[in-house]
Amino acid sequence: MKTKAKFLSVKETTISFVEFVRKFSTEHKALVYLEKLRWKTGAICPHCGEKKTYKCNRKNEYGYHECSKCHKVFTVRTGTIFERSHIPLTKWLYACYKVITARKGISSVQLAVEIGVTQKSAWFMLQRIRQSMSQTIDADRMLKGIIEADATYIGGKEKNKHASKKLHLGRGAVGKVAVLGAKERGGKVSATVILDTGKETVHKTLSGMIEKSATLMTDEHKSYEGVPFASHKIVKHALKEFVNGMASTNEIESVWSILKRGWMGVYHHFSQKHLQLYVNEFCFRLNEGKCDRHIDERIGSLCGLSLSKDHMSYQNLLSREGDNGLMRAA
Ligand SMILES: [Zn+2]
Repeated sequence: MKTKAKFLSVKETTISFVEFVRKFSTEHKALVYLEKLRWKTGAICPHCGEKKTYKCNRKNEYGYHECSKCHKVFTVRTGTIFERSHIPLTKWLYACYKVITARKGISSVQLAVEIGVTQKSAWFMLQRIRQSMSQTIDADRMLKGIIEADATYIGGKEKNKHASKKLHLGRGAVGKVAVLGAKERGGKVSATVILDTGKETVHKTLSGMIEKSATLMTDEHKSYEGVPFASHKIVKHALKEFVNGMASTNEIESVWSILKRGWMGVYHHFSQKHLQLYVNEFCFRLNEGKCDRHIDERIGSLCGLSLSKDHMSYQNLLSREGDNGLMRAA
């Protein structure tokens, strides 16, 4: 018989804003927290991997280390998304906390006000955090078991995004970006921005996120025909057949509705070039942000990932934005 996982109460799994502020009340506390998370048994040189390192005094501040081999000086920020940022780690951790706990996400405008930085800085922090979240999707195990897959369109008019209309859009729908997602029944979700909804792209994308042994549930879109999985069940939305026996795509559709509510309510506009980063954020929150995990564990999981990611330079982010270099109020 299947044993039920212990249900943790809200009190056990979340910490209040007050508790959070107390935990990271000083830069020193935030630094020690991140060092413990990154280096369980003493600092390791991020430049050459040497384990023999020394604490060194620089500007009389805690947190500087020197490598015994390459003699480079480093801190816990070196080689992470926190590198070359003048923003205090307390603010970075607060941003991580907000991204994890705000169900629909947080806008750079709001974050800027809450932590007292410019909107430009807040936007940059959020983009770096989202970049660190992409790793959960890359490194995560493949989805297995019963999987619901569906595509949705972001951008364009709402009426064009209704399920019954999606079938007529075909390739290259103007002003819209297609996102293909898959969700384990009662489990993890994965989603990717796709350039077209053709059969080849759809098959390749799904194969990259789902195990071959899976049973796939989709709507009747032609692109799903002949998908390379053990079983494929179809729900005919055009016939208003939303639940065909066990075949339904309700769970993945509810993921889209959260994504779209965030888009409408918090971000107003996802820059299409950055859409994948936003999609990562939503997937991360759905996968890692489950209420049965302690908030410390969730923050740790995000910071842990951030610590292993290279920082993204500001120029790099802007070049992704395209020729106009405009930052969106997202
Ligand atoms: Zn070194």
